[in-house]
Amino acid sequence: MISKKKALEMIDVIADMFPDAECELKHDNAFELTIAVLLSAQCTDNLVNKVTRSLFKKYKTPEDYVKVDLEELQDDIRSIGLYRNKSKNIKKLCESLLEKFDGEVPHTHKELESLAGVGRKTANVVMSVAFGEPSLAVDTHVERVSKRLGINRWKDNVTQVEDRLCSIIPKERWSKSHHQLIFFGRYHCIARKPKCDICPLLEDCREGQKRMKA
Ligand code: SF4
Repeated sequence: MISKKKALEMIDVIADMFPDAECELKHDNAFELTIAVLLSAQCTDNLVNKVTRSLFKKYKTPEDYVKVDLEELQDDIRSIGLYRNKSKNIKKLCESLLEKFDGEVPHTHKELESLAGVGRKTANVVMSVAFGEPSLAVDTHVERVSKRLGINRWKDNVTQVEDRLCSIIPKERWSKSHHQLIFFGRYHCIARKPKCDICPLLEDCREGQKRMKA
């Protein structure tokens, strides 16, 4: 693994490349964001935004999702991967919001992670984007970028990736860095075809150098 100093230098370069990176999931409040993040598992933000454009007009509150038949909700999100499980989780999540949290999205990691379909990543995104708490969610892009750059080992799990990044990046930058790393992975260090030939990090990136020689 590379040193923390070198890792932060690389993260600074990424920050300069994407200074305006932000959450691309469209939402108007914490509840809509929670539903959107839940829908985004193994699915692009673009597709989620297409679906939520009409979904959020039809369903405005947890009651709306609880009242509807499961089959109707499944039809409403059918174009999204894993829609059957996601529909069930949305209904369960909304039932819990009504039963335990007065219909509001809770403000702690522990409470968020007690909701159906909400894992650490979703909780981190909601805490950071909706409530402004410093948080660094590790999604597929953040994990891949961190490993390609040698900030983490390939065998590390997502918790180890999060811990290492949080130990390197100053806390006040966690939320912004999360979006910048996602943008870097989504638009530059792309999963199937990273732009190594024009990458400002190539000199320090073993993965990139390997790819350029291949
Ligand atoms: Fe990604 Fe290639 Fe840049 Fe390395 S050199 S960070 S693999 S785009």
